[in-house]
Amino acid sequence: MSTFTISHAGRTDAGRVRQSNEDHFLAEGDLIVVADGMGGHGRGQAASRAAVAALRQAFADDPTATGLVHAVRRADAAVVELAEGWSDHDPESDRPGSPPPGTTIAAVARIAGAEGDRLVVVNVGDTRVYRFSDGSLSQLSADHSLVADLVRAGEISTEAARVHPERHVLTAALGASRGAAPAVNHLYPSPGDRVLVCSDGLFCELPTEAVAAVLADGDPAEVAADRLVSAARANGGSDNITVVVADIG
Ligand code: MN
Repeated sequence: MSTFTISHAGRTDAGRVRQSNEDHFLAEGDLIVVADGMGGHGRGQAASRAAVAALRQAFADDPTATGLVHAVRRADAAVVELAEGWSDHDPESDRPGSPPPGTTIAAVARIAGAEGDRLVVVNVGDTRVYRFSDGSLSQLSADHSLVADLVRAGEISTEAARVHPERHVLTAALGASRGAAPAVNHLYPSPGDRVLVCSDGLFCELPTEAVAAVLADGDPAEVAADRLVSAARANGGSDNITVVVADIG
């Protein structure tokens, strides 16, 4: 029965424009999670942290593929609960049009199974999981976004989506759309593969080839993560940037 190890390094950075960092990540043992909160005025920060904490706890209780999917639903419930209580914390949220707390989430976990260990990937929103294998980068997560729908419909290219004016419009997020069904994927990785989990502050600033080039250099995960953040900042850093690089051994 095949097995593998995961060693990872994560970095998060507010970028060069935003005053606060609403992203949050966890890279702990066999579980990696990145969340990109939204709402401003502390809402996004609270949402991404609540979602990551709820997912971590739920997955610890049931570290299976089903458990990981369920953990996303627990994270959704945690953000909905946060939104319901938010007016207690922030009088500004009583203003009409003030957005409730919400967050994207993407998680990847090593899960034991009858046919060996595999990686299970779940996501809601546009935080991404990529696999870098044999020199090429492929996306394992499935974006819930307007531009992803346009790409799937064959109307625009992935590169056009990356710089599209409406690239930040989500079609699902935790907290904002109750019961949002997570996209689920899985794979049996090969030794030497790298897995990248990142917020849109990385992939909207950097073309896929630039991300792949950094991963291809074979630096340790810590160095690769630092280089990706630096490159996104150098290209504008207009959003919070979070990356976790994981090496499969
Ligand atoms: Mn973002």
